[in-house]
This record gives sequence, structure tokens and C-alpha cells, in this order.
Amino acid sequence: MHLLVPKSIQRRLKRHMFFAGRREIGGILMGEMVGDQRFRIADISVDTVSGSLAHFVRDAEHHERELRAFFERTGADYKRFNYLGEWHSHPSFEVTPSGPDIRAMRNLVEGTRGVDFAVLFINRLKRVWQMEASATLFVRGYGGCHAEVEFE
Ligand SMILES: [Zn+2]
Repeated sequence: MHLLVPKSIQRRLKRHMFFAGRREIGGILMGEMVGDQRFRIADISVDTVSGSLAHFVRDAEHHERELRAFFERTGADYKRFNYLGEWHSHPSFEVTPSGPDIRAMRNLVEGTRGVDFAVLFINRLKRVWQMEASATLFVRGYGGCHAEVEFE
């Protein structure tokens, strides 16, 4: 699976990470299906309040609201525009998913929320305004597998 990250989204992520400093921030990814196994991040939500240094727990209600607004903007075309997954920053360590990250994502796709697959996008701001990122795809009934990140 390929995850396309457009310039506008990169800019927003970098800005949020810059202002968050060493605090983890995150939110949800809203995606556009652009081809077979190809998704572009169409929008993100950002929760700058409930992040902490070591762990990120998102405010479910805040993100549900953002997702509803996204569906309205995209004309409820759920096949093309839909929830894609979760993102958070790892300001102080590698962008690979931690044990708790993997468990949380597996619970999400194996749970009762009707999510069959979800991407976990982890990013980090490097010096000179560069962004380092990883993406992992979690599918119900399977584990997680590496996804290709493409900066557009
Ligand atoms: Zn993490």
C-alpha cells in the first residue's frame, strides 16, 4: 500500500510539530482513494491538547466531529473519501510504531467500530524543516505491514 502525503499536509504537520516541541501530538487521517492500494492524505485532524510526552491518547469526540465535517465537504462519497487511520508524532524517538502503538491499532481494526483497515502514520520533525515518517497498514484478521510513504 502507498500513502501519498501532499505538500499542503506536510506543511501543516511540520507546523504543528514545530509548535508542540517535545510533546507528542496526533489525530486522525482522512484519505482519498486514488488507485489500487494508493491513498492520499486529504485532511488531518490535530489534537494539540491531549498529547503527552510519552503517550498519545486522542479525544474521540473531537475527531468524530472533524470526520463528519470532512464527509460533508466531500459530498458523503465514502468510497473515495473516508477515514484512513491515525497519526502521531514521535518527537523524541524513532518513527517506528511502539508496542502500545501496535496494540492500539490492532484493537482498532479487530474491534467493534466497523474499521476493517487503518493506517498508522508516525512522523517526526528533523532539523532544517525536514520530516521523517513511517506508515504501517493494519488489516482486520492480519497483522500490521509496512506501507510506502510518498511525499508529493
Ligand atoms: Zn507512538
